[in-house]
Amino acid sequence: MANDNYLLEVKDLKKYFKVKAGTLHAVDGISFGVKKGETLGLVGESGCGKSTAGRAIIRLHEPTAGDVIFEGKSTLHYKGQDKKRMRQEMQIVFQDPYSSLNPRLNTFQLISDPLKVNKEVLGGESIENRVKTAMELVGLEQRLVDSYPHELDGGRRQRIGIARALALQPKFVVLDEPVSALDVSIQAQILNLLQKLQKDIGLTYLFIAHNLSVVKHISDRIAVMYLGHIVELTDYKTIFARPQHPYTQALLSAIPIPKVGLKRERIILEGDVPSPVNPKPGCCFAGRCPYAQGPCLESMPPLVEKEPGHFVACHFVQESADGIKLPAEITGKSPRKVAI
Ligand code: SF4
Repeated sequence: MANDNYLLEVKDLKKYFKVKAGTLHAVDGISFGVKKGETLGLVGESGCGKSTAGRAIIRLHEPTAGDVIFEGKSTLHYKGQDKKRMRQEMQIVFQDPYSSLNPRLNTFQLISDPLKVNKEVLGGESIENRVKTAMELVGLEQRLVDSYPHELDGGRRQRIGIARALALQPKFVVLDEPVSALDVSIQAQILNLLQKLQKDIGLTYLFIAHNLSVVKHISDRIAVMYLGHIVELTDYKTIFARPQHPYTQALLSAIPIPKVGLKRERIILEGDVPSPVNPKPGCCFAGRCPYAQGPCLESMPPLVEKEPGHFVACHFVQESADGIKLPAEITGKSPRKVAI
């Protein structure tokens, strides 16, 4: 049954690909909800499945199993007009605006393209007018209406990508690493623009990124992904102050602190990220987890709400007098750390 608090609900979503060596489990049963007007950050290393998850949610990749519920209705069986309407309401902004925009089209053509395919969203308004409004919304000067992507800087190109997504007036937008390909100074401009648009027109975002500082800046809640699974999900303050999953702890310990003289320890994970092709049974993190033992090799722990609003997928994280944590008998075997 759908949860009324959520605009979008993802239930046990899986996306597998057949490859020569077997089956690649890119997304292996993820579940979460996104509230209306909220930004949910989805973070993890390259190859953890976060972009595939974003694409499967809006059906750019057809999911292998699971369900995506949008405004209380399952979307995975939509066809024809229903699917077209879903695509208008759920849009995506891609990582690299240079490769995601057709170099042969100018700004007007790029933004008007989706409007020509979905004329019904115009409701009598002219395409010219809707393009003008979208350009104003994202801060693109009207003089650039005839410019081609190669004539623009990275920030302006990404503004076209955002205008293209917003021209159809969606309710939900997947932002797939929208600032990773941009210079640092332009990253801040685009992040501020995305926050302003969310406030002004009530958008809901799934913000995918590998940079935790960027995700912290924009997200209300953060989900951490590892090898196709969500291993921890909670509000952004809790995840930075009290991460509980051993992978989240290692990930956060690697963030550089821009303060001269401030020392702390970085958790060093042993081994490599395992292959997602034909994964072994057991916890997805067992091969690198310093606390792995018995049950970890037998079954993947489900993502469970261990304290209100704080979900963790670990067999051992449990309630204690001072909140949830890994018990002392587990953490007695402490991970390798180096000072940074
Ligand atoms: Fe580590 Fe075991 Fe917890 Fe997985 S279930 S994170 S291997 S302690």
